[in-house]
Amino acid sequence: MIMRMSSLFVRTLREDPADAEVPSHRLLVRAGYIRRAAPGMYTWLPLGLKVLRKIEDIIREEMNAIGAQEMLFPALLPREPYEATGRWTEYGDSLFRVKDRKGGDYLLGPTHEEMFTLVVKDLYSSYKDLPLSIYQIQNKYRDEARPRAGVLRGREFVMKDSYSFDIDDAGLDVSYQKHRDAYIRIFDRLGFDYVIVKATSGAMGGSKSEEFLAKASVGEDTYVRCTTCDYAANVEAVQVRAPLPVAYDDAPEAHAEATPGTPTIDTLVDHLNERFPRGDRPWHAGDTLKNVLVVLKHPDGTREPVAIGLPGDREVDQKRLEGQLEPIEVEAFDEADFKNHPALVKGYIGPGVLGEKNESGIRYLVDPRVVEGTRWVTGADVDGSHVLDLVAGRDFTPDGTIEAAEVRDGDPCPNCDEGVLETARGIEMGHIFQLGRKYADALDLKVLDEFGKLVTVTMGSYGIGPSRAVAAIAEGTHDELGLSWPREVAPADVHIVATGKDEHIFAAAERIAHELDAQGIEVLYDDRPKVSPGVKFKDAELIGVPTIVVVGKGLAEGTIEVKDRHSGEREDVPADHVVDRVVRVVRV
Ligand code: ATP
Ligand code: MG
Repeated sequence: MIMRMSSLFVRTLREDPADAEVPSHRLLVRAGYIRRAAPGMYTWLPLGLKVLRKIEDIIREEMNAIGAQEMLFPALLPREPYEATGRWTEYGDSLFRVKDRKGGDYLLGPTHEEMFTLVVKDLYSSYKDLPLSIYQIQNKYRDEARPRAGVLRGREFVMKDSYSFDIDDAGLDVSYQKHRDAYIRIFDRLGFDYVIVKATSGAMGGSKSEEFLAKASVGEDTYVRCTTCDYAANVEAVQVRAPLPVAYDDAPEAHAEATPGTPTIDTLVDHLNERFPRGDRPWHAGDTLKNVLVVLKHPDGTREPVAIGLPGDREVDQKRLEGQLEPIEVEAFDEADFKNHPALVKGYIGPGVLGEKNESGIRYLVDPRVVEGTRWVTGADVDGSHVLDLVAGRDFTPDGTIEAAEVRDGDPCPNCDEGVLETARGIEMGHIFQLGRKYADALDLKVLDEFGKLVTVTMGSYGIGPSRAVAAIAEGTHDELGLSWPREVAPADVHIVATGKDEHIFAAAERIAHELDAQGIEVLYDDRPKVSPGVKFKDAELIGVPTIVVVGKGLAEGTIEVKDRHSGEREDVPADHVVDRVVRVVRV
């Protein structure tokens, strides 16, 4: 079927939409691929739907190739299974909860572990039925706190979610590896630059987990890579290597000193260098122990204040902190909270009052670098005073450790002894993880093993976002002229532009379109009679089909221009070779 610009349901825009922050969003709207329906909700126009479907088909082919079977659940789901696993509550504000006319509780599925677990329980009962991998491609619903960048982060979005079911851990490893391999094939075919990184498993629980990130400066995820070994991880999952405990026999006793007007790390360090200079080197921020208060909002609504102790040269990274605590959310410790905890002296908070057993009763978690024997300058819990030579393990004992400090370029690699970490940004495209028995336990999915004994099934879950992929590919491939699709996902193979008023030109273009169509080439044909060549060229560049064929003035000399949208290279091809040429280009 030839798509004709004269009748295609598309309206390209010269102006950027006001709400678009990133290039892919701007271009997908301007080129007529998507339209905003409401915040975080988008309508797929014909061109956009073509790209989305091609991505889905690539995913479908590769899932089928590893023996996974496609099915489809409702998006509207009953509360009970999600109640049984705790996620009805744990999902917090992100879950769309709805009521039916009888007052019954339902939800719009944010992900379907529960339903897949139950359908297997419903139908299977023996180890002979396993392993099994099943999947669906379906709209998911999450009331995202910050829907963003068009279809990159929607409140309704498309997800391919698959689930594996195995009798034992060895089986789960095999299923996981198969999915991982399939994901590599999918992302190679989708044609963008990606990295595979270690991940935390978030609200889904479970153990081994990796993410596929598209490299992109607009990405919301930060990941690190080692300069020497193959270590790569989402910063949320980076586990700082704790130094070994240090001896503190020769450490002087802790002593409180007057440090008036030093509520910040900078003012404190200046004051230390002026009034308490060290013999060996100047004081720096990393010598201080900064205590940051936050409030953990638990899924059941309770607010728990927590203090985080970390070296003064590092900030708390909220995403890293939340990554450790999910589904708990992190909120600011505000003025009212300070009022409720009079033991806390703003700007001078120290371990003296922190900890469950101490005056404030506030749980005190420290950075893994705060190991036994390390010596710190920290708040004395008195206005204008700090304690020096405070030794961890001798003078204070935290309630535990937490990975909340920012990760920086140049930090030592947690995996090898030589390398350092480099940070970069990416967009999460896929996430695979070993769930283990969490859902099978909660929903009682057991099968009989070969000895007739009931055993709990172990599961994996594997997600990709095709709608997000449309934006991520656009983000990674566009240029200043517009979209520029990789061939496998382009809405058409070739964009034929007929220019001028000459009937011959339109007749020739029409013939080429038909011949290509007959050979199975997908054609977008700009047959609009009264539109100027300039507008047609601009539209072709904006829409981003990989090959553009211009039938125009050259026809008088018997040539037609074939242009590569991506490289910009153009060539005049003899008119009667054009069809062959295009077929060859498309089929490489
Ligand atoms: P994120 O951290 O970006 O919110 P997530 O970790 O919550 O994503 P998963 O639950 O792992 O996402 O979902 C699997 C896949 O679904 C993701 O890798 C991503 O491609 C896609 N996805 C998740 N949330 C959205 C969304 N709001 N809009 C579009 N795609 C999404
Ligand atoms: Mg994820």
